[in-house]
This record gives sequence, C-alpha cells and structure tokens, in this order.
Amino acid sequence: MPGHRHSHDDLSCLPLRLLIDGDWRDAADNRRITVENPATGKEIAQVADAHAADATAALDAACRAQAPWAALPPRQRADLLHRAYEGLCADRDRFTRVISLETGKPQAEAQAEVDYAAGFLRWFAEEAVRIHGREQQAPGGGSRQIISRWPVGPCLLITPWNFPLAMITRKVGPALAAGCTMVLKPAEQTPLTAILFCRLMQEIALPQGVLNLITTTRADIVVGTLLADKRLRKLSFTGSTRVGRLLLAGAAASILRTSMELGGNNPFIVFDDADLDRAVDSAVQAKLRNLGQACTAANRFLVQDGIAAPFTERLVQRFAALSADNLGPMIGAAARANTHGLVQDAAARGARLVLGGKMPAGHGYYYPPTILTQVPADAPLLHQEIFGPVAPIQIFTTEADALAMANDSGYGLAAYACTRDLDRVIRLQGGVETGMLGINTGILSDPAAPFGGIKQSGLGREGGTEGIDEYLTTRYTAIATPATSGT
Ligand code: ADP
Repeated sequence: MPGHRHSHDDLSCLPLRLLIDGDWRDAADNRRITVENPATGKEIAQVADAHAADATAALDAACRAQAPWAALPPRQRADLLHRAYEGLCADRDRFTRVISLETGKPQAEAQAEVDYAAGFLRWFAEEAVRIHGREQQAPGGGSRQIISRWPVGPCLLITPWNFPLAMITRKVGPALAAGCTMVLKPAEQTPLTAILFCRLMQEIALPQGVLNLITTTRADIVVGTLLADKRLRKLSFTGSTRVGRLLLAGAAASILRTSMELGGNNPFIVFDDADLDRAVDSAVQAKLRNLGQACTAANRFLVQDGIAAPFTERLVQRFAALSADNLGPMIGAAARANTHGLVQDAAARGARLVLGGKMPAGHGYYYPPTILTQVPADAPLLHQEIFGPVAPIQIFTTEADALAMANDSGYGLAAYACTRDLDRVIRLQGGVETGMLGINTGILSDPAAPFGGIKQSGLGREGGTEGIDEYLTTRYTAIATPATSGT
C-alpha cells in the first residue's frame, strides 16, 4: 500500500538516536526503546533509550550553548523560528504520517495537529522581538529604575504522547524566542515525531546544543538526574497531575521555576436555551477530538432537564455514526483498560449504558464511542480523567446547580457551556473555576491564547503573550540620579 511505503521511507531516513550537542548518538548503555503502532500493536521502530549519563551530557551541551544563544539578537532568533515554521509547513505530509503512525490518530487529526503545532512556531517568532521591560522614576525620587527581562536559562521540557508535535512546539517555540537552551524529553510512546522535529531544527541551522533530545523509558532516573543538577533553571511539563506532583516535589530541592500543564475534569454544560445543533457539534468536538485523549476533552456532560432528552438522542446518533476508521485506536492497552474499567464501574453502580461500552476484539487498541446516562454522583468517571471516547451525562435543573456541579472538582482546566443568554455567559465567566471557558464551541486551543489551568490543573500558561513569560525572568536595576539632574 502506498501509505505503508511512505511510512517506511519516513522512518528509514530518520536518525533513531539521541540529539546531543548537534550529534545523533546512541544511549551510553546502548539500550533501545521499541515503538509500536497502536492500530496494530506491532513494532514500527527502535530508538535510543537514554540513561542518566546521556541526560547529563545533554544538559552540558545546553549550558554551553546558553550564553551565545541568549546573546543572539532577537530578530535572528525570530528568523530561525520563522524558518522552522516554514520548514514544518513544507514537510506537513511527512509529519502527518509519522504522527499518525505512532499515535494511531487518523490522518485528518494528525494533519490538524501539524497545523496547530506550526502555529506556535509562527506565534513565538512574532513574540521574540516583543520582549519588553519598563523604566520608571522611583516614586520617592533619587533614582531611576530599569526593569528588564532575561532568559531564565537551560530548560527541561517534558511532553506527553497525545499531541506529540504540538506539545513540543508549544514549549520549544517560547523557549527559543526567549533565548533559552533546552533538553527535550518526549513521551516514550511517541519519540519519532520528536526526532523528526529535531532534525528539522538542525536543517534550518539552529546552533548545536540549543535543542537536545533525550528519548527514554527511564524517565524517573533521567529526569531525576536533571532535576538534581543545579545548572538546570526551568522545568516545563505537560502530563498527568500524578507525575506533575512528583516533579514539583523534585523541583523543590533547587527551587526550580516550573510550568505545569496537568489533568482536568472538564464539564460540558448544555442549558435549555442552547442552539441544539451547535451544542451537539461542539459536544462531539470536545469529546471525540483525539478520541477523548486530550487534557481539554469534555469529561462529563451536565445537561439541563428541558433539553436533556433531545440532546442525548442527537449525541447518540452522532457517536453511533462514527466508525473505528474515523476515530482511530487509543494509544495503548493500559489506557484502553483504564477507560473500560471506568465504564464498567459506572454501569455496576447503576448508570445506564445507552451506547458502546464493549471491549472490541481484534488487533489494535480500539474502543467504541460510549454514552452513559443516570450516572450516580459517586462514580469515579465523574471525578477522574476518562481520556477515552466516553461521555457520561448528568441532568441538572437550575444554573446554580450546574455551577456547583461544574466546580465540584479538584481540577480547574477547561469548561464548556452552550447557551444563547448573554447575561448567563457573563455569570459563567466569573463563576466557573477553570483557566479556560468555551462558549458554544468545543475547541479552545489556539497559539494566540493563554492555555492553562487553575487548582490542580497546573501552574503557568502556554501560548498567548503569557507563554513567553514562563521562560523569562525579571531583573531590576536602580540608577541613582546625579544631584544636578533634579529628578
Ligand atoms: P500520560 O498519562 O499522558 O502518559 P504522564 O504524566 O505519565 O502522562 O506522562 C507525561 C510525560 O511525563 C511523559 O513524557 C512521561 O515519560 C513523563 N513521565 C512519566 N513518569 C515520569 C516520572 N516519574 N518522572 C519524570 N517524567 C515522567
């Protein structure tokens, strides 16, 4: 098949190694990671499996490259990011195929990810020349104060498998723009996209040592080694709240700057006055983008009693019309077992399974779109990230009930609401305890917008004008005014 031929060519010309100081190297102990295709469960490649010594070598390189990279004029850093953007767009098809191969995403979703990922490179190319400080007179007189912004220094960037390219550019883009060097540690399930991206960065002549790549199955040892190294100045992590909490504890020893994009328990609220067509479209997007394997995925549907029956009926129709080909497989056996376990548990507690919920036979980690109603409030799938194509529906009566249910979570990443009442939108803006709120839409991600959560969903923001702040630190200089100047 032509698709397979392409994928084979894509991999045969890739350096399946670590990138350290501009060289592609094997791991110090020569171990390798086996990468599998989630659609078949079969091996597609083996890549280097870094150990502690490799991590230290990568940080050595980042530290050596830091001063010259930070000294480069911002316009030159911006030009490199523009070239990276153009290079990624020019190689869109190959990136699409590699993402699809190692995540199992359908081509259309993989292509949408490439475009989204490229957007961060363009956005931060534009931001690189807009890093501003300020200057002021001391209120009491006697000095002038110059407040300036500087790169924070060598960074460790840890990314997940669900958006293996976009989660990289969302961190690498602002780090490069700010003048930081970095060690990138992608998820072990998706090292190929990271390798392809790093090779692109080499091709556009990013100076060696600025971006180093460490693929590993030994994340705890490799990351632990870097967190214990006092030369590291910043950690940016996207992943589960469980691992984020571990890393924050590790970062405490050296008071490391951290940005954390963690899990969510995102409510999708449908009010009686919603436009039903738009609400159903938005619900399908918010639930089934990436098969629900997104931290912004709607985790629970709160539907007002007057619209609950037609909304549920329409959602069932839309979910039922989607095939495994449209949707793709989940990332792996453990992820699928976790999602299925949550469904079975809810059913055992009395929830009604109105669609899906059956573990399919055969190859690949497929799972059917699933809808549950009458879900009891204590069912774990209302409180934990499902990270799969499962929609539990709960019914509410008043706006106050909906708000109380939406906010009854330790997480605070995203929320969605469908309504045509402007006053209600204003109330929700102030009342919903999340970092992001989508009104009549199921998509929140945009390079120009600050992505991030409150409560246990994280610290810091990615994208927007806020995104670059995470990689900058503030220094202030007081200059005593000469007596003759008068101010
Ligand atoms: P997910 O459930 O999406 O796989 P994780 O939080 O487990 O989320 O993984 C996100 C990233 O964190 C991946 O790059 C993974 O390799 C890394 N990771 C997982 N466990 C650890 C750990 N103990 N220390 C450092 N990094 C880790």
